[in-house]
Amino acid sequence: MPVRPADERIRDFDEVDLGFTKTEAQAEALRCLQCKKPLCIDGCPVGINIPAFIQQIADGDILQAAATIQEENMLPAICGRVCPQENQCEKLCILGNKSTPVQIGQLERYVADYARKEGLQIPGIANQTKKRVAVVGSGPAGLTGAAELAKAGHDVTIFESLHKAGGVLTYGIPSFRLPKEIVNAEIDRVMALGVTLKCNHIVGRSVSIEELLKFDAVLLGTGAGLPYFMDLKGEHLNGVYSANEFLTRVNLMHAEQFPSYDTPVIRGSRVIVAGAGNVAMDAARTARRMGGKVTLVYRRREEDMPARAAEIEHAREEGIEFVTCANPVEVLGEVNVTGVICVRMKMCDPDDSGRPRAEPIRNEMFTLDADVFIQAIGQGPNPLLIREIDGITLGKKGNVIADASGKTSIYNVFAAGDVTTGAATVIEAMGAAKKAAQTICEMLKD
Ligand code: FAD
Ligand code: SF4
Repeated sequence: MPVRPADERIRDFDEVDLGFTKTEAQAEALRCLQCKKPLCIDGCPVGINIPAFIQQIADGDILQAAATIQEENMLPAICGRVCPQENQCEKLCILGNKSTPVQIGQLERYVADYARKEGLQIPGIANQTKKRVAVVGSGPAGLTGAAELAKAGHDVTIFESLHKAGGVLTYGIPSFRLPKEIVNAEIDRVMALGVTLKCNHIVGRSVSIEELLKFDAVLLGTGAGLPYFMDLKGEHLNGVYSANEFLTRVNLMHAEQFPSYDTPVIRGSRVIVAGAGNVAMDAARTARRMGGKVTLVYRRREEDMPARAAEIEHAREEGIEFVTCANPVEVLGEVNVTGVICVRMKMCDPDDSGRPRAEPIRNEMFTLDADVFIQAIGQGPNPLLIREIDGITLGKKGNVIADASGKTSIYNVFAAGDVTTGAATVIEAMGAAKKAAQTICEMLKD
């Protein structure tokens, strides 16, 4: 995939990947073997008919390819950009055994972008059932659940606590990876199915739980927006952020354009980011675009980093420095951050996740100068609503317990996405929401 040069892209928030041309897309589509038993479909949590849409690209019928994708996925331009395809459909592509798998994600992105410009009809809607369904949260889980339920003829209302819809797609993932006009365009298509969107509505506060439970069914898609902290000395200092807060300030509140926008963010000239997942890479690359010299500190080795390989490569190209086998232990400063003390780590036997455990090496400390310290070490479900719903069963990590069909311990309350799994992926949230919507439809038939 062609990308913009690193020295150009660190000066703005425009998209890094340039996308296929029609000729490139068709050439890539022609690599597909059209397997009789296509494994790639099994690797797609929403079950897109991948060989069919690839054949339609090869035949030059791009709008038909878009219609094929839309049968299963209302957010294809988003998924084409952010899905970890290398662990999903592309991982199972048979061509990957001997060479490179078909670039299914890039083809999905190409088709979705073409269809957005050329115009693709929204899917048909079944006869109205007069059943009312409330969806809480407008991230990928909420949007997908709402779309499926609206297509089935139900009267769907999404309640969203923020002033804009999209969940992490809007407030978390930066526009240089996922442009906001693309998110907005795909949200508009979901709304065009007749879904009512109520932003600035916090269920459990401005909308009562009693009011929520008056709906015939409820789908919880409230995500995992509660950041974890390292609990370090000095964590209270000015200049310490969770990645969630830092990214929300920039993505949603346009803090990088302060004072033209109301919300500020400290623009550090020396920024330390702790963590090495997608969230850490996004925070580091955002801080870089705001002029910072950014160092990412990770307790394991580079090969253990959980972020997508492309994100790691892009971060490195953009001048982010990686300090591996090290962990922050204290934030220095009196009022503002001035530095971060780190300890060297050594790799030990694998833990339950299969990755080597990292243990601190006694007395091997070093200090990195810093004005901003961003922690990106994970996040869990926001307890605000779910802890207050009587009779709902929660797991040890505060997540809602739901079975594979989305059912919770309350008969008409369903849940999908990060609120059930903890921080996961866009497409897993969408796959779970589709299943939950199908279960709700079954229940509402009775
Ligand atoms: P969310 O997207 O979190 O949406 C939940 C929504 O519910 C939010 O809008 C929230 O405001 C709303 N809400 C919460 N409580 C209430 C309430 N009480 N009342 C009303 N509304 C409420 N995944 C990938 O697949 N690829 C990536 O590249 C990737 N990058 C990421 C980068 C970042 C910075 C982050 C944070 C995550 C990333 N993820 C990525 C993970 C992915 O975004 C999530 O797994 C996905 O968004 C989960 O979807 P969701 O709908 O369950 O929750
Ligand atoms: Fe095509 Fe690969 Fe899917 Fe086979 S597995 S149908 S080659 S994309």
